[in-house]
Amino acid sequence: MRFRFYDELLKADVLREFTGKIVGLNRFEGKSTHFVAPQGINSVVKHFLNQQAINAIYERTVDRIDMELDSKSYVLHTKEEKETLAADVVVLTIPIPQLMNLQGSIQGLLEPWRENLEKVVYSSRYAMGLYFNGLLDVPWDCKYVDDNECVRFIAIDNAKRGAGFENGYSVLVHTGVPFGLKHLEDTFDQVKPVILQNLKKYLPELPEAISTKILRWRYSQIYKSYLDSPCSLVLKHLPLMIAGGDSFCQSGFDGCIDSSSSMVECITNFIKSKM
Ligand SMILES: Cc1cc2nc3c(=O)[nH]c(=O)nc-3n(C[C@H](O)[C@H](O)[C@H](O)COP(=O)(O)OP(=O)(O)OC[C@H]3O[C@@H](n4cnc5c(N)ncnc54)[C@H](O)[C@@H]3O)c2cc1C
Repeated sequence: MRFRFYDELLKADVLREFTGKIVGLNRFEGKSTHFVAPQGINSVVKHFLNQQAINAIYERTVDRIDMELDSKSYVLHTKEEKETLAADVVVLTIPIPQLMNLQGSIQGLLEPWRENLEKVVYSSRYAMGLYFNGLLDVPWDCKYVDDNECVRFIAIDNAKRGAGFENGYSVLVHTGVPFGLKHLEDTFDQVKPVILQNLKKYLPELPEAISTKILRWRYSQIYKSYLDSPCSLVLKHLPLMIAGGDSFCQSGFDGCIDSSSSMVECITNFIKSKM
């Protein structure tokens, strides 16, 4: 079933088979086929959204969800514009600690699941992107690092995506989880020089970056998923509210496909029940 999605994305050239060179990936060597999204991973989501006449609204943080007084729909409050959005169906794919933080009557809906929701565990790490002019000549595109307490993964991101160096190049660094956990509450100004110093051990020829961006990935990969990995969880049948995402299955694209397929089935059944 998952193959259908890979086939479609490959045909549309949203995904390509990864042909670059990865070094240090001993654990998974030969066990997986690797793909790359040359236009970035959000092009996968856009591919599916573009197939439908969807009026998507982006860049909103939902901070409160209430049920309407007639109990037939929901009202979502967003932080940015103090606006509200009405919804017949709510699908939540945000990390569970952020789900549990939402205000409003959703708190009552979460109650029966709270104990198991609280048992989901995430890893934490930092991700840093660095942008450079010119060329970089290294014999790999991605490198897993085993002998450093800070850096775990490095990618020459343009090369990884199969792009050239015409517009300069970018380097992506992920820290390891132990470093991420130890320094989770540090400021970016504290963490950035440490990452840079450790990165230079593997790429000593790096010049001064023209720009850098660092992200604290507090809820990174799933370490322990929701009990029995159900792929999604119906929080309320009528009006329908579902929680999904990789917290309910496994981290990775396959987990995303399994979770979304499970949620589509719930929504389809909900629509049929209303006809
Ligand atoms: C370091 C690392 C490397 C990985 N490498 C790979 C890989 O090579 N291949 C692979 O297949 N997978 C990989 N993954 C896993 C992949 O990233 C996840 O499986 C996938 O992102 C999960 O998607 P999701 O939609 O469930 O959650 P997320 O991608 O975490 O999306 C949740 C979204 O919810 C948003 N959000 C949170 N709170 C709110 C709110 N209140 N209102 C609105 N929005 C909110 C967040 O901003 C975020 O955008 C990797 C993950 C990590 C951390």
